[in-house]
Amino acid sequence: MIEIKNVSKWYGPFQVLTDCSTKIEKGEVVVVCGPSGSGKSTLIKTVNALEPFQKGDIVVDGVSLADPKTHLPRLRSRVGMVFQHFELFPHLSVTENLTIAQIKVLGRTPEDAKARGLKMLDRVGLSAHKDKFPGQLSGGQQQRVAIARALSMDPIVMLFDEPTSALDPEMVGEVLDVMVKLAQEGMTMMCVTHEMGFAKKVSSRVIFMDAGKIIEDCKREEFFGNPEARSPRAKDFLNKIL
Ligand code: ADP
Ligand code: MG
Repeated sequence: MIEIKNVSKWYGPFQVLTDCSTKIEKGEVVVVCGPSGSGKSTLIKTVNALEPFQKGDIVVDGVSLADPKTHLPRLRSRVGMVFQHFELFPHLSVTENLTIAQIKVLGRTPEDAKARGLKMLDRVGLSAHKDKFPGQLSGGQQQRVAIARALSMDPIVMLFDEPTSALDPEMVGEVLDVMVKLAQEGMTMMCVTHEMGFAKKVSSRVIFMDAGKIIEDCKREEFFGNPEARSPRAKDFLNKIL
């Protein structure tokens, strides 16, 4: 579904990604972790073509991002992205937040968009809040609306960048529950998160990054079950967060 091939990226003279390669198969849930500043957000944004890269290629569902002929907005519309900060439109109701991109980007009728959006809102357990504005919802609820909004676009893959790290602790669980359900339903997911409980429960693989490089890329059982085999940097990191 996603193939990242020898991707390198620079911000001016600063190399932020160095020769990153990995593959994510359909239905896989890949957790990306690593210290702050290691390039996790940058890597996940390159997959959605929100950040360009200078070397290598990323192929999403057969479409090459390095190919200048690729229509990036169309590709982006098929990749769901959920950020740390929910980024809902504050002046639009929940229902309008769920439908606007479906109408403007996918060309759906308002009726179809609403039907799809409300179905996804139900999936995240927030049907009762359809007429509220983001400011009237808790952080956890806003993040669940952001997930429903991404799902309304019928994404082929969902990218998450630390979706729970800006939330008060008591709201983390409700967002993770939605993500676990998605994972168990077979959604292909790439998740930057330090929630190792989530990683242990549903991930197929764990990628560990450090200083712009993918240092570890292994199956969940291997990552958690065989700590002695981990690189010193990964061991150090895991000791700090577990
Ligand atoms: P992480 O998500 O792992 O914390 P990031 O991908 O956000 O890491 O950042 C990786 C590195 O790139 C950091 O050193 C950060 O300061 C730098 N960086 C991120 N965005 C930019 C930018 N727009 N311009 C210059 N440097 C950036
Ligand atoms: Mg980040």
